[in-house]
Amino acid sequence: MINKIKGQDKVITSLMRSIENDKVGQSYLFYGPTGVGKLTTAFYFVMAINCTNRDLGSPCGKCNSCRKFMKLSHPDLIYLFPTPNLKLSEDGEIKETKYQKEFETYIQQKIETPWNDYVFSASSEIRIGAIRWVQNRLSLSKNEAKKRICIIEDADRMNNNTANAFLKTLEEPPEDTVIILTTSKPNSLLPTIISRCQRVAFNNLSNPTVESILRENFNIDLVKAKSFAKISYGNAEKAIQLISQDTDSGRNIALKLIQLALDNQDLDFLSFLNEIKDVKQKKILQSVHANIVLFLMDLIYQRENPSLVVNVDSLTLLDKIQAHKTITSLDIYQLIDESRELQRMIELNVYNNLIVTSLYNMLKKIMKK
Ligand SMILES: [Zn+2]
Repeated sequence: MINKIKGQDKVITSLMRSIENDKVGQSYLFYGPTGVGKLTTAFYFVMAINCTNRDLGSPCGKCNSCRKFMKLSHPDLIYLFPTPNLKLSEDGEIKETKYQKEFETYIQQKIETPWNDYVFSASSEIRIGAIRWVQNRLSLSKNEAKKRICIIEDADRMNNNTANAFLKTLEEPPEDTVIILTTSKPNSLLPTIISRCQRVAFNNLSNPTVESILRENFNIDLVKAKSFAKISYGNAEKAIQLISQDTDSGRNIALKLIQLALDNQDLDFLSFLNEIKDVKQKKILQSVHANIVLFLMDLIYQRENPSLVVNVDSLTLLDKIQAHKTITSLDIYQLIDESRELQRMIELNVYNNLIVTSLYNMLKKIMKK
């Protein structure tokens, strides 16, 4: 968790400065797109507030306090997130035993692989019972921390009743307590909640930032890092999930289709289609589509800004296509646009042979020019 937040320097500098200047606020709203580090930054911030061994302005990650926060087991940490109905008692006891195991797994996942999107088996929200538990805990005195911490993740998933109940806490915040709400949908929050918080905006991460997160934390090659960064549009969480779902098959199929279309080998295409007839997974077809779009974009980048090219291991293939001087950038953009319809068909689980054939014909159309 420590030192792994990238691309949010401005936010982190200003939060750290508030600690230096003893100006830490009582309630914050961290808002911005999903997967850019809002929750991680929240934990980083509250660890820095309570760290007993702060080094160069950052939490040390080693002291007792930091370690307890990292294990989500600090007695002065209240961490709330949307769950199925756990039937919480005011003491925080889970009365609904069928979700007990899922809840424990969720917490374990948050500690070990915070980027994974763990989904409960039943619909989740932040319920009034959970808010009552938070309020009950806040009414007791704090234990050992400099500041008690209350983090509410995806705060937009409180219904109006719950939000109104929580508003009372924001209106009369308990002493020595820092409350942080995170959301990717600030418009779904009650305006009265928003106006009670210091607002901290998080931006999308740039492609190079996502790329370096992937390269530094996971052992993957440059082409993959570049393509996952691009496919996920600045959402580091999604890019990391792509690694775990990654099979080379999507990209291999895409490159093979491009080569066959370039060589105009219809017979070979038919036997290739037969070879891959068992590929029925939506995920793989999505990856074939995404890789073809990335490749087409590379044709444009190669002309306009070669440093942006993703498929750096397939330059020969790119060069061969570029040799068809008649393909304009406008043609390529039109093709990418047309391919959106195919993307929709993949979502609808249309027969995969039809999709792959349509992609092949689409590619041939441009190569023939
Ligand atoms: Zn520390």
